[in-house]
Amino acid sequence: MADRISENLQEKISARLRFYQDIGIDLFYRNRTASAPSLGDLPASDIETATSDSISVVEYSGTVETVVVAETSVKESSASEGTLPRTPRKPVLPSVPALHVPAAPKVVLPAAKSSLFDATEKNSGDSLLMIRDDIGDCTRCKLHKARNKIVFADGNPKAKLVFVGEGPGRDEDMQGLPFVGRAGKLLTQMIEAMGLQRQDVYICNVVKCRPPENRLPEPDEIKTCSPFLFRQLDVVDPQVIVALGACAAQTLLQTTRGISHFRGQWQEFRGRKLMATYHPAYLLRNPPAKADVWKDLQMVMAELGLEMKRGAKSTTAVKTS
Ligand code: SF4
Repeated sequence: MADRISENLQEKISARLRFYQDIGIDLFYRNRTASAPSLGDLPASDIETATSDSISVVEYSGTVETVVVAETSVKESSASEGTLPRTPRKPVLPSVPALHVPAAPKVVLPAAKSSLFDATEKNSGDSLLMIRDDIGDCTRCKLHKARNKIVFADGNPKAKLVFVGEGPGRDEDMQGLPFVGRAGKLLTQMIEAMGLQRQDVYICNVVKCRPPENRLPEPDEIKTCSPFLFRQLDVVDPQVIVALGACAAQTLLQTTRGISHFRGQWQEFRGRKLMATYHPAYLLRNPPAKADVWKDLQMVMAELGLEMKRGAKSTTAVKTS
């Protein structure tokens, strides 16, 4: 039985276990060996290594929610005589610091900035310079592809009277100024017939880039570009707006009705008086319509307190260029 432990050694081990019992750690070894073969059944060569067991070790990672219990294998090596076993480490929970719930970070919303495309509200901090700066080298709609120059506006930025056309033509696209072609010359005559100079009024368009072949601006182009116009009108804040042609009138009044339905009648645009009348380009093609336009402009003059220019009572006051 050379491979079996001797009775002498068994006796020593038993004495050791009694010692463990005396000092109160016998349960550890008893439980540990519960499923293990008895010492008497073990080969002597195995006594030194014996079995392994697990001790629960609690690790504390700093937050209550993350207490982790890990199993650490501990090699038993003290079964040999004269060597005290290591005292099993009892799981020791560290004192749990008082839960500190940090205050929710204060959410600071960026200062509300009116969108270029949400011009439904008046932007009191706006300026014509800012609007032009926002337009920049605009590519927001397809009209940018064929344009030569963006046509922003012309005239007095503090004018009481604003004329709004639909969009630049060829001459305007070349010069970067609104109403400088044939229709523009006629508009200038109309302004002068009212007793004003061109530089007394503010002139702009619904779209800032020339539509190809002078076609009408399309709905998506108007929708994209018109917020710039609305901002311009809010900044200039005129007493009266004259919408020249159906496109300008329908855009400002948000209607699809034909201009003949409301031409010659006061309308309102954001608290300001709006008069819709025919576009000068239409008058070039249809001169008799100038009589209607002159009537409309006389209403505007009355509203602005402008005196009738001598000799301007007839419908020929607005001459064809
Ligand atoms: Fe931009 Fe207006 Fe010109 Fe379109 S028409 S590219 S939105 S500036």
